[in-house]
Amino acid sequence: MLTPEEKKWREERLARIKKWEEDCPWEDFIDDDKMLKIIEKKKNPDKKEILDIIARAKENALTGAMLSPEDVAALANVQDQELWEAVSEAAYWIKCKVYGNRIVLFSPLYISSPCVNNCVYCGFRNSNEAVQTKTLSLEELEEEIKMLTSMGQKRLIVVYGEHPASDYKYICKTIERIYSIKNGKGEIRRVNVNAAPLFVDEYKAVKAVGIGTYQVFQETYHHATYKKMHPKNTLKGQYKWRQFALHRALQAGVDDVAIGALFGLYDWRFELLGLLYHAMSLEKEFGVGSHTISYPRLEPAVNTPLTSNSSYLVSDEDFKKIVAIIRLMCPYTGSILTAREAPALRQEIIRKGGVSQMDAGSRIAVGGYAEMKKEHIPDKQQFVLQDTRSLDDFIYDLCKEGYLPSFCTACYREGRTGDNFMPLAKHATVKNFCIGNGILTFKEYLMDYASPKVKEIGENVIIPNYLKWLDEHVPHAAKRVRELLQEEEAGKRDQH
Ligand code: SAM
Ligand code: SF4
Repeated sequence: MLTPEEKKWREERLARIKKWEEDCPWEDFIDDDKMLKIIEKKKNPDKKEILDIIARAKENALTGAMLSPEDVAALANVQDQELWEAVSEAAYWIKCKVYGNRIVLFSPLYISSPCVNNCVYCGFRNSNEAVQTKTLSLEELEEEIKMLTSMGQKRLIVVYGEHPASDYKYICKTIERIYSIKNGKGEIRRVNVNAAPLFVDEYKAVKAVGIGTYQVFQETYHHATYKKMHPKNTLKGQYKWRQFALHRALQAGVDDVAIGALFGLYDWRFELLGLLYHAMSLEKEFGVGSHTISYPRLEPAVNTPLTSNSSYLVSDEDFKKIVAIIRLMCPYTGSILTAREAPALRQEIIRKGGVSQMDAGSRIAVGGYAEMKKEHIPDKQQFVLQDTRSLDDFIYDLCKEGYLPSFCTACYREGRTGDNFMPLAKHATVKNFCIGNGILTFKEYLMDYASPKVKEIGENVIIPNYLKWLDEHVPHAAKRVRELLQEEEAGKRDQH
């Protein structure tokens, strides 16, 4: 139940949102009937068509072009196992071509959970009395950051409920505090945000405190399902307001924006097309697509029946397809696989889906890092995570398979964001930076935080292998990286 103050805040904001929707300068880019027809028309793609699409997706990795909705629908309808393997291989090939064989690591940090909305799938929904909500004080936030930086984390996605206590001013205050904290050699260098949609002036304030990417997930692109999931008179119930959340962010000058869909609410094939139309609209209006794409899958949440009884729950097999198709569909975009998924499946999907970013050592209760030993505190969480491996164990598992763990934040800090970043990703040259900076940030981790087993494999296998890659592909960078590594060994940090 909302308090009178919460109700007043919500009503005032809702009136402003409805006014914005009336004046919205953009046309709805989701045509449900047309999309369903495309999926139906491409129900039985033949082998040659799929092989052609795969070949085109690989060419696109060098130009930044996206596949068409028809292509994506055809891929989503592939039944033949051998063809799936070809799609998976292409996904990994594209990922390596654009970003190299590195995985960028980050950590989610839930800062506030009270929320005026009532999303049917979410443990934090206002009517869910089984979950205790909490907004961190700045002192509690500092404790969380100390714990995260003492593990070696450098990049965060900070997450907020939609509530007067966590409005844009609170978002700004908490991010400023995060950047101000130094913990020995540790610090957070990049703060990305996952929060409710804002007005342009509010985005400007959030940009001014130095955020990285602003993420807003549409959850479902299907209008009728969106209505069912988000009650009418809630803020999140306003489809168009959310649909253009990131258009407003770009209008406000935020450099990088990120889209996502919550898989399990409606037919996954439709949601894939929705993501594509969203990326196409950002591209058309602003010339930059989505910096990353997220594909959270519905997970159990306390007292939230939809999470187990939705008719559209996605199987592991289909989930693997979703990740691989996203990689083929938008070759330049970062692909985020979260700890919602189980460890073995995550390991498998890195390769089969061409993933580029993952969280590790994650806790998602508000204040959860201060109680790090508890893997789950279900009555304080939005949902339940399946992968609770420590950051160090996670890194060890990456190293065993030959990936380069990276804490790199160099692109943002060198101004390679938005339309400066996109050409590099679109022409598959960004990896020339990614590998060198990945080596430098992994070296910091090895010197400052790693366990003996990670140190051993990191120093003896991973770093030499990737230096060799640089020698062969970007020799001038290899020389510079070696100089910077020496400086790191002498005590310098944050080299890029
Ligand atoms: N309140 C903000 C909003 O709605 O945009 C922040 C979002 S929420 C804290 C982060 C994301 O978690 C949501 O956008 C949704 O996609 C996802 N999520 C919500 N409930 C979930 C569940 N039961 N399982 C998995 N992911 C869920
Ligand atoms: Fe609130 Fe976001 Fe949960 Fe919806 S998904 S109830 S908006 S925290």
